[in-house]
Amino acid sequence: MKIFKFNNLHIVHTEKEDGNQRLKENRKRVLNNFNFDDVFIPIQKHTNTVVKYMDFQSEADGLFTDKRNVPVGVLTADCMPIVLFDRKVLSVLHAGWRGLFSGIIQNSLKNHNTERTVAYILPSIRVCCYQVDERFIQNLNISKDFYSKNESGIYLSLQNVAKSILKENGICKIYEVPVCTACSDRLYSYRKGDFENRILTFAWFE
Ligand SMILES: [Zn+2]
Repeated sequence: MKIFKFNNLHIVHTEKEDGNQRLKENRKRVLNNFNFDDVFIPIQKHTNTVVKYMDFQSEADGLFTDKRNVPVGVLTADCMPIVLFDRKVLSVLHAGWRGLFSGIIQNSLKNHNTERTVAYILPSIRVCCYQVDERFIQNLNISKDFYSKNESGIYLSLQNVAKSILKENGICKIYEVPVCTACSDRLYSYRKGDFENRILTFAWFE
């Protein structure tokens, strides 16, 4: 696992060596390192819905908390985990293209003081590997700024889409872990065949 600490904010993402985080026993092993018994994870459906941590048993792709030492997380394998923190409210989002283009970031920011919000983009599939087709670009009317085209195809940068949405909504402080899940041997990737296995990304503040 990789552990990041920004003042009183903690962010952790697991790696293959931590096992498939869909399984509760594997999550428990990870969480025990930080003296947590469990982590709040929503029922992820590629929606743009963000709910408070205690409503984690509903279909949503983001959770937020205003309480200290309440870990909130998402499961991914190529989709983009995004953490937002403004010193009082912490959100964790599962953002694939569906969530991004349907406004999950904008929905989440309604819960935040945007002047103080810092965003963190965690490992996800990047422009090196995220191949899409011409129709996808046309259907979503995606700007040229967000994809690159070469002889082998069209490649989308989910991270650049997210950064653009964040900036448009007044979030200037954006940190990014520039690791591609499909390139890395240490991370699960749906596109590389990990259909069942998931990375857990979770965060809490003290
Ligand atoms: Zn890659």
